[in-house]
Formats: sequence, structure tokens, C-alpha cells
Amino acid sequence: MSDIAERLSELGRAGLRRELRTVSGSQGRTVILDGREVLLLCSNNYLGLANHPELARASGAAARRWGTGAGASRLISGTMTSHEQLERRLADFHGYERALLFGSGYLANIGAISALAGRGRRVFSDELNHASIIDGCRLARAETVVFRHRDTEHLAWLMRDSRGPGDLIVTDGVFSMDGDLAPLDSLARLAQDHGTRLLVDEAHATGTIGPNGRGTVGAAGLESEVDAIVGTLGKALGSYGAYVCCRGEIAELLINVSRPFVFSTALPPPTVAAASAALEIVQSDPGLTERLRDNARHLRDALRAEGLEAGAERTHIIPLITREPEVALALCARALEHGVFAQAIRPPTVPAGSSRLRLTVMASHRRGELKRAAGVLGAAAAELGLGRGRGREAELAETREPEASAPVPGSIGGLREAA
Ligand code: PMP
Repeated sequence: MSDIAERLSELGRAGLRRELRTVSGSQGRTVILDGREVLLLCSNNYLGLANHPELARASGAAARRWGTGAGASRLISGTMTSHEQLERRLADFHGYERALLFGSGYLANIGAISALAGRGRRVFSDELNHASIIDGCRLARAETVVFRHRDTEHLAWLMRDSRGPGDLIVTDGVFSMDGDLAPLDSLARLAQDHGTRLLVDEAHATGTIGPNGRGTVGAAGLESEVDAIVGTLGKALGSYGAYVCCRGEIAELLINVSRPFVFSTALPPPTVAAASAALEIVQSDPGLTERLRDNARHLRDALRAEGLEAGAERTHIIPLITREPEVALALCARALEHGVFAQAIRPPTVPAGSSRLRLTVMASHRRGELKRAAGVLGAAAAELGLGRGRGREAELAETREPEASAPVPGSIGGLREAA
């Protein structure tokens, strides 16, 4: 057996081998999966904009007018008027001086972190931060100090001798796999007390949280305290790409030293136009974000009525923890048999012992569909001996991973490879 075949079969034996699943047709609230229509309960297309006719129209018009590609990186000949327009709009939307587009959220995180923190500096990072933040810390070659999830007392202790603006605190605003919120007020206070910068990844908060979908930082009114936010265009905004909002001086630094910005082709005009159209829709229709919030509440209530623990947070991301990867796969397969698609999430995306279905709500879901999905999931969980039956507390309730498998806070050694 080749070393590659051996690695793959090792993944299979651990229940961790992954396979691609193909969706045919468009990205709606239902999709065609393996020839069957299923309710989509695991997409980040939270507002249902990815197949919105206005985004398609804007994108087609941009391709005809400006072409299908930017043809070069931003610093060569790739900066087009549409990039600058979208950047101005995004900066205004979030209440920052400047915004800079990046190729993706992954690239924005590694580009911002590595530019803001360098060798000899420290990055304080929540243990459940996204993989792109973890990789940004690696690229920065700063010392990475991991604090326990949302534990600001632990962070304060780790920061006790941190001084100066070259250090950085970084956190997801809405945590991607758990749907819970960062304690932004306390993080901002710690950053202020220590003269440390603060970066918040709003990938799952842009368009979904706060006034008009301005994210967790906008909701908390912390634009002056948070030095930079990362937002994505490929999730609620239905397009592709990402951006960093910050003050002018930081933007100038990113333009000069952020490697993914400097060394990668600019976003294509149709993608930029679709994102612009999405932003306009989000700004002009606050009802969209409210519908997402209502649907999230509705699904949580329906899951609870089925005896499943749906978490205390009120966001559109709802983890159903199965612990073991094989159980997550079995739950996913059973739900699929009944027309509900909620992908199993396993290590290294989440810590060992905390495999799950990560349910995500869309503003376009209908109440009846969510209720039916909760029924399917409740029945599937009961068949697998997971829940304790309708209306009663479920064994799926545990949402924290066992201590033994948790990353080692305070060091870089325990960093996950979250996807
Ligand atoms: N940050 C977080 C918190 C994410 O969940 C993701 C994507 N899953 C990213 C960044 C990366 O964004 P993108 O998909 O645009 O690369």
C-alpha cells in the first residue's frame, strides 16, 4: 500500500475520511442532491441570496461591461472602479474608514493577522477560532497564545505582561461551528487596558447579526474599539470573496505587506457586482435579517419540542452534538433518507469528541419545512438511541468537548485544523 493509500485508510478507520457531495441545480433553500430534492440545512447562504435574480443580473451585466476577470493583482493593473466602489460601500456599511477586498475569508484572515502581528509579537486566539485564523497565526510567525473558549478571565491572566500595540487579540464574532458569540465588550476592554489590537472575524455575522446585518461589532457599537474586522462575501452575501475593514493607516499597511493581497489576482468584476447587489438588498430590506432570526428561533423551538438540545444562543447556527464521528455520519445519513441535508462535521473541523451536525438556517426556509426537519432529526436521533424521546431532555445536550481532547490553552501545540 502506498503511503497515501495508508493515510486515507487510516482516516477511514477513524471515521474521518471525507467525500465530496454534488449538488445539481441552483443553491436554493432546497437542492438536488444525488438526483433527489432535499431541504438544505447546512449552507452558509444564510439570506438565500446566492440564487437571487438581482445578483445574477448584476453579475451578468458586469461580465459584459467589464469582463470576467480582473487579470492581475490589485497592485499591478487589477484595481478596477468596481473594487473601489464596493470597498467604499463596505466601509460605510460597517462604520470604518477603509475596506479592502481579499480573494476569500481564508485569505483575508491570513493576510490581516500576518500583517498586523509579526515575529516577536503575540497573538491571543480563542481556542475555537476558525482554521484560517490559526493559519494566519502560523504565517505571522508571532507567538500564538490560545485562550479557553470565550474565557476572558483566562485571557486576562495570559495577557498579564502584554504591553503595546504590536500584540493582537483575535476572535470569531459568531463561532462558525457552535453559533455562539464572542464576549466582545470584555475583549475590547482587555485590548484597551493592554494597548493591544483587536481583530474580529465576522464571516458568519455579516448580513445576519445586528442592526441591518452589520455584524457583532456593529451590534455592540464597538467600531472604534475593534481595530479590524474580516467579513465574507461568500456566505450571507451570496457571492465570493472577503474584505477587511479598518482605519486608513492599517489599510495602507495591508496594501503594502499583506501577502494574499499583494500576490493574488483581484476579485473578478461579476463577483464584485453580485456582492454589491447583495449589500444593497441587505441594506434596503432589514426584514431579511429579521426573517433569518425568526427562522432560527423557530427551528430551535421545534428541535426542543423533539427533545433535542438546540443551544442557548439565538444565532442561525445550531450544533447537534453526537460526540463520535460515526454517529454524526449515521445521523446525517438517516436525515438524508427523509429529505433533510445536514452535513456531519468531524475533527479536525471540530475538536475530537465533539462531532456534530451543524444545522444552519436560511431566511428563505419556510416554517413548515423547519418543523418537518426537526421532526426528521428527532426521529433519526431516537432511532440511533441519541435522544430520550419527544419533549424530554436529550443526550445530545452536551456541547462541550471532553477536557482530554480539548486544545491546550496557552500554547500553540493544541491548535486544531478547523475548516
Ligand atoms: N472565517 C470563518 C469563521 C469561517 O467559518 C470561514 C469559512 N468557513 C472563513 C473565515 C473563510 O471564509 P471563505 O470561505 O470566504 O474563505
